[in-house]
Formats: sequence, structure tokens, C-alpha cells
Amino acid sequence: MATDLTKIRNIGICAHIDAGKTTVSERVLYYTGKNYKMGEVHEGTATMDFLQDEQERGITIQSAATTCPWTHQDTEYKINLIDTPGHVDFTIEVERSLRVLDGACAVFDGKEGVEAQSETVWRQADRYRVPRLCFINKMDKLGASFDFSYDTIKTRLGANAIPIQCPMGTGPTFSGIIDLVTMRAFFFEGDKGEIVKEADIPDEYKEYAAGYRKILEEKAGEIDDHLMEKYLSEQPMTIPELKAAIRKGTVSRVCNPVLCGAALRNIGIQALLDAVIDYLPCPLDREEVEGTDPQDKTIKLTRPHNSDAPFSALVFKVVSDTHGDLTYMRVYSGTLTKGTRLLNPVNNKKENASRIFEMHANNRIPLDQVTAGNIVAVVGIKDSYTGDTLCDAEDPIVLERMTFPEPVISMSIEPKTQDDKRKLSEALMTIRREDPSFRFTYDDETQQTIISGMGELHLDIITTKLRRDMRIAVEVGKPKVAYREAITRKVEDVRGLFKKQSGGRGQFGDCVITLEPFTAEQAKEEELDFTESVAWENGTVGGVIPKEFIPSIEYGVRQTALSGVKFGHQLINIKVTLTYGSYHDVDSSQIAFEQAGRIALQEAVERAGPVLLEPIMKVVVTVPNDYLGNITGDISSRRGMIIDTDDRGVVKLVTSEIPLSELFGYTTAIRGMSQGRASATMEFLQYRAMPAGLMKEMLEGGKGEKVVAKK
Ligand code: GDP
Repeated sequence: MATDLTKIRNIGICAHIDAGKTTVSERVLYYTGKNYKMGEVHEGTATMDFLQDEQERGITIQSAATTCPWTHQDTEYKINLIDTPGHVDFTIEVERSLRVLDGACAVFDGKEGVEAQSETVWRQADRYRVPRLCFINKMDKLGASFDFSYDTIKTRLGANAIPIQCPMGTGPTFSGIIDLVTMRAFFFEGDKGEIVKEADIPDEYKEYAAGYRKILEEKAGEIDDHLMEKYLSEQPMTIPELKAAIRKGTVSRVCNPVLCGAALRNIGIQALLDAVIDYLPCPLDREEVEGTDPQDKTIKLTRPHNSDAPFSALVFKVVSDTHGDLTYMRVYSGTLTKGTRLLNPVNNKKENASRIFEMHANNRIPLDQVTAGNIVAVVGIKDSYTGDTLCDAEDPIVLERMTFPEPVISMSIEPKTQDDKRKLSEALMTIRREDPSFRFTYDDETQQTIISGMGELHLDIITTKLRRDMRIAVEVGKPKVAYREAITRKVEDVRGLFKKQSGGRGQFGDCVITLEPFTAEQAKEEELDFTESVAWENGTVGGVIPKEFIPSIEYGVRQTALSGVKFGHQLINIKVTLTYGSYHDVDSSQIAFEQAGRIALQEAVERAGPVLLEPIMKVVVTVPNDYLGNITGDISSRRGMIIDTDDRGVVKLVTSEIPLSELFGYTTAIRGMSQGRASATMEFLQYRAMPAGLMKEMLEGGKGEKVVAKK
């Protein structure tokens, strides 16, 4: 039976580290579990953070989805809570969860208001056009201020914040919340705040609440003309009218309702869940999912939110499990019955969905069927990973792929014993399946395994996982920056000729190419595949080269770009157009054309002004005013560029762009410069050409990093 989609909310909780996301999630699981009289709460352990690693570091890495039943106004709803991590090193995890959810709840620290990292997460959610509620948490903390935090949501995020609650008291006197829509007070009693008591607004808070109610009415008027008339003529607005306007505004991303509470003190969570139901979109409120025809990428397709439509789902997480991999997917259309064969249109593999589970925090419920709008974990999928589509083989579609940033840092990893060596490659494969931003390769020259990822912390977590969870003894080398090559100008008519005549049958391959700088955006515009940041186009006409040899030329070009041409680092952001060529009836072969492609690209790069690119990180340092000079001076000495210095009361927020190669051990260094009071976050920004002088120095081996120029 198809689920009533109006009863589903697929949501995530986005917050930067320490705002209280784990505590909020844990309380959500507690109250929703209780609702169904199941689920056990272990004091002090957050159920969502089931990985030991996360608990030790106090951060959430894995993005698990949990189904939480919730009853609101006597109607049963299903909230699928998609866990989103808060650490910027794992923005990829945030992105992948944003992709499959319909709405989110942003959690802020009631004392700090909007912080630097909250901004990053907020902007990402903007990019994915995710409707959001704001929950101002930690209202019990000394110095917490709803007014200040509410203000920062408006000023720092530029959001149209619409207050739908306000607190009663603040800090130690924080006792409950006022619902500004119903103008009622709510207290949360019992051991775990499980008894929600509704009351009249206490006299002392009446004026305060009235002030915010006024703002609410004005903002509701901006959303709905009828309410604007009421606002101007001071007529009372009804509860259903207000709710409808707030819902409309939130779903269409015109406004963001603001709530408050203290998760740690069990205040406000049930009201937050009610608001999720009342104001966040159900799957039907979102646009139909878009995709392309696997045979012809120029044909656009959509799928309705309908259980009768052809099946389509997006894989957003693979988790290795003792009983087989759990493949988390969001079903966008159609129905999947257990045991059905599915198609992965990207790699053309058939998959078998042998078992389907609805995942709860501590248990999984087997299902016979799942329909559009739901999120489930499936066992039996073998060759489909994060970002892949699974669909009906009769009616295939490729849903828009997620884009994963390229790794920017790598290091060698060495197993200690033969036994460790055997286990290592399998373990790395497992991690790769779970985490698309992680890569590993084997370097034939040095006979070392190299792992690469998004930052120092990312690789650190992976090695800890290998050592502790997978029990493999490994030694790691020093982290190294992943450089890239690029070109600076277009070159046309470059010939690659591979010709060998040594008795018997010879070899003959001949191609002519145009090589030009190219970006991901251009690839998107021209609808060209941009695998490994290389676009390829065949512009030949009239069969100057037989069709069967053209893929060989492309292969030769791509392989050469991958291993680098000028500096031994991957060549990226190029477009190669095959314009002309010739062949020989007897001597031409796939191998010969592959070689011709290689020669053409090598020759073209030489003429196209090759440069070495280095990864640049966006670094945000929070530093008390007294130490500002130390930090900014140090940024310059690291070839950094200060982009912005923002005043945040007693601290300054310095945003800068610094080459990754200058950033090893940075977090420790800035602590030393500020008596432990400065902190920093960083994320990959872009690749940028290295200054010519430095490039020369590196080529000559002057600097620690070795870059080998190829002949
Ligand atoms: P996360 O990093 O966003 O997942 O945050 P956590 O849930 O781990 O919380 C970070 C810290 O804030 C922990 O020490 C929590 O106990 C604390 N915390 C969370 N919610 C509240 C709250 O409502 N009030 C107070 N005072 N502290 C809280």
C-alpha cells in the first residue's frame, strides 16, 4: 500500500559542531521512540552516533537515516531523520544528505547565535534549496539570549526569520517556551521532560511575547495578502490562518520560522517536532525529481511522486555491515518490492534488492515493499555507491549525480605484517564504498599504498578506523598536498601520430586534437561528461577514423591526463576535441590509436602553457582581539590572503585563503600564538596556479615536496 505522502517528513538537523545537534537528535529519538513504546535510551550515549570514533571525537561523521514515528493532533506521521555531520572537513557528507532531504532544522547555540561554521552549513542548504526551521538551543546557558540569536539569524545569514516561539526566562531562569501562534505557554515536566504542560502565558512574559507576536503577524502579512489586510486593520488572525501562512512561506523558502529551547534540559523538543510536521514540506511539496535518459543525456526526464510511476531511487549512503552492505536510498517514484531486480543505469549493472529495512535508532524493521517518498536501507546491492541511481530496468532514468570534490591531501600507508597487508586492500575498498571523498592508489614506483582525502582530519579518522575498528596495524607517512596540472591557453591542430614498421604487421594510429582550458560549469552547459575533470568531444566527420577506434583515442587521452603530463600530477579542467585523423587498413589497431591519443595530448600540453596548481583552503579563524596581530601576521607568512575581518564582540573572525601546503599543523600553531584561545576551521576552496617562482623552486627540488618534471 502506498504511504500517504502528506504524513512523511524527510528532514535533517544541520548545525555546526557543538551547537547541540547530537543532543537534539538524541532527544528526538527518545520522544519519538517513547511514542511507540519502544526503543531504549542508554544514558549518555547518543543513539545516532553509533560509531565509537564519533563518540570519542564528539563529532558526527556518518550520515545514518532513522525513521521516527510522531503523533501530532491525533494523526500519525513518519519523520525520517537524516543525520548530517557538522564538521567542515566532511562537507561532502552534509551535501549528500542535503540532496535527499526535503527540509531541515538548523540548530544554533543560544549564547553565540550564528557562528562562522553555521554560516557555511546554511549556505550549503541554500544551494540545495532546502526549506529550514531555526532552533535556538541552549537557552538555559548563562548569557544565552533569544533576542541576540534571533538578530544574528537576520543579520549574519540574511534570513527572513519569523519568530514562532519565544522563551520564558533565559539562562538559569529559562523555564519553558511560548508558542506565538496559539499564544500559549508550554512547560516540560517529568524526569525527561516527557510531560508537556500547556498553560496561560504567565503575566511577567505577556508583554515580551506580545512584542514577538507583532513581528510574527507582520511577517505573516508579508506572505499572505489577506493577513496583511488584517494586520493593517488590526483584526485578529486565526490559528489556522497563521499556520497556513507560515507553512506556505517556509515551504517556498520565503521565510524561516524561529523556535527555541534547551535540548539538554529537555525543553522544547516536542514542540520542535510539531513544528516539523506543521511547517516543513512533505515529499509532495517538493518539485518532481529530475534526471536524464541513460542512452541520451540530452533527453531530460522527470518522475512524479507517485507509487505507480516507474521506480527510481538515489543511493546516498553505503554502510558496511556484518550482514552485508546496507545501501541507504531515497525512493523518488514507484514501488520497490523485496526481491526485485533493479538497474543501475550508470554502470549498467543489475542489482537485487533482496531485503528492505526501515531503520530505527536501535533496530530495523523488515518491509515487503517501499513506495515513493520514503527512505530505507536495502541489503543485496553490490555495485552501486553513493550518488548512483537505481531504477526500473524497463524505464531507466539517471537522477542528477552528486558532485564530489577531489581529494586535496594524501599520504602513504604501510601495513606492518603480511597478514595486515592482505586485510588492508579489502578494508580500503570497504571505506571507499562508504565514503566517496576517500581515494586510494598503489604507486608502482615506490611500491606504496597512497590514501587521499579532504583534509588532515579526514585521513586521521580513516587511519584510526583501520587501526581500531578493523584491527589492521599500519604506519602512515607525512601528509602530502595533492597538486594538479592545468593549461593556460587553447591550442589547435595538434597531431598525435603513432607509427611503427618492423617487419610483419605494423602499428598505425593518427589523430588531430584541439586542447583548451575548460570548467565544470562549461561542461554542464554543453552537457559533456566531465569525469576526472576532462571533457571529450568527437568532432570528426565522414569516418576519417573508423568508429571503433575513437574510444581508444579517448582512453589514451584520459589515461595520460590522469597520470599528468608536465609535472607528474593529474591534468585537470581541459576539453579535448578530436578534429581529424587517418588510419591504415591493416596496421591500425586500438592500441595504436590509444598511443596516438597519448602523444597528441602530451604535445598539446607542451604548447598550451602548462602550470602547476595547488589547493587553496578557506580558513576562518576565531581569535580574541588581543591576539589578532599575531594571527594576521602569520597568515601573510603562509602566503595567505585575508578576505574579511569581522567584529564579533570580544573576538574577531578572520576569513582568509591559504595554500594547503602551508597549513600542516595549523590548528596547533595558532593555539600557540594565542595562549590557546584562537580556533580555526578550514575547507577546500579551489585549485589555483602556483606563483612562477615557487613552481620553479619546487621543480628544482628546493622545497620539501618533490615534483618531478617529465620529459
Ligand atoms: P553537536 O556537536 O552539535 O552534536 O553538539 P552536542 O549535542 O554534542 O552538544 C555540544 C555540547 O553542548 C555538549 O556538551 C552538550 O551537553 C551541550 N549542550 C547541548 N544542548 C545543550 C543545551 O540545551 N543547554 C546546554 N547548556 N548545553 C547543551
